[in-house]
Amino acid sequence: MHRHCPSERLTPGVHPPYHNAIMSVKPETIIRTENVRIGRSSAADRQGSDLLGSTPEELARMALALDQPAYRGRQLAEWIYRRGELDLTRMTNLPAAFRDRLQAEHRVGTLKETARRETPDRKTRKVAFALPEGGLVESVYMSTPTRFTFCLSSQHGCGFSCRFCATGRMGRGRNLTAGEIVEQALRLRRELPPGASDYNVVLMGMGEPLENYDAVLRALSLLSDPALGAVPAKRITISTVGLVPQIYRLADETPRYRLAISLHAATDELRSKLMPVNRTFPLAALMPAVRHHVERTGRRVTFEYILIEELNDSVAHASKLVKLVAQLPCKINLIPYNPIGPGKFRRPEPERIERFVEYLKPRVPAVTVRYSQGVEIGAACGQLAGAAEGSARN
Ligand code: SAH
Repeated sequence: MHRHCPSERLTPGVHPPYHNAIMSVKPETIIRTENVRIGRSSAADRQGSDLLGSTPEELARMALALDQPAYRGRQLAEWIYRRGELDLTRMTNLPAAFRDRLQAEHRVGTLKETARRETPDRKTRKVAFALPEGGLVESVYMSTPTRFTFCLSSQHGCGFSCRFCATGRMGRGRNLTAGEIVEQALRLRRELPPGASDYNVVLMGMGEPLENYDAVLRALSLLSDPALGAVPAKRITISTVGLVPQIYRLADETPRYRLAISLHAATDELRSKLMPVNRTFPLAALMPAVRHHVERTGRRVTFEYILIEELNDSVAHASKLVKLVAQLPCKINLIPYNPIGPGKFRRPEPERIERFVEYLKPRVPAVTVRYSQGVEIGAACGQLAGAAEGSARN
């Protein structure tokens, strides 16, 4: 099976016709595959509930309930979130009796790294984590000489069926817990070179973060807690297909994070074809919600726009896009389409991309073109689909 075809469909569905042919891409190397048992392990069950994902206050209350002073819980939080330590036996300043008690009743983290793929320069690394009940979620570590970005998953699979996205083909899976989202970041932190500690977080992996609202917001509040070696909120971006009620909720309740909207088309007709969610939340509903978020946060919004040959990449399309975002403090992030397998979608020729960019430049506040890192290892935007699940099972 082709690696970008998800080896597992989570919900039954019919592939659109353009998903049927076979496409060839460069084979990548799986450089490490640990022999991890997939499937609910009785050991994991025995380990009880996950401490990862609990707030310092919740851990303090738990310590009290175990006849320990509250500060023991806060020490535990320091170990987990500040130091990224997931092994209770290494938390040496906690009393042994307390550690034993915790060990018997709880676990810290649930993810098992089962496979990874890296570009030869190691700047991009896609890591597949096994979930306790089986299935894989993927996270991507991306680096430039000055910047590190972790792309985290929020769900296993995705129910929104965007036509261009590999995760969308898996169908709806389950929400990840706050602990599972934070754990991806804690594990990717270990990839940072010595001396580096600052990183950005983008919720642009598998899943729709705003559909898993509570767990995502809890995870982000833990990751951005200044008491726990935080990532500043302005370094965190939530990317959404455009769930309008949740955008309002986010703007009103937690106007701290950056927002990115997967737009990809400037008319309802085209957007509804590419993204079925547009039939529920059309542009006339989405754009006021985005404006509300910009006003509440004082931060400009990013519009992601995949350039697909002939489909949405003409100057006429660019002109519609300019009109749609007029008067809105925004950045347009153009993503030349990344192949996700068989299909009729193509990446435009460089000249067409250039023409689109040149048209936008004087007419919108900012434009960037994101040539995704990691295309050759299936780690680029839209390519995450738990494709390594087969290899992890072998
Ligand atoms: N569900 C959220 C989070 C996933 S983000 C969202 O849609 O925003 C993943 C980003 O990669 C989105 O902007 C998505 O539209 C884009 N993407 C998906 N498939 C792609 C592909 N084949 N090529 C380039 N970008 C893609």
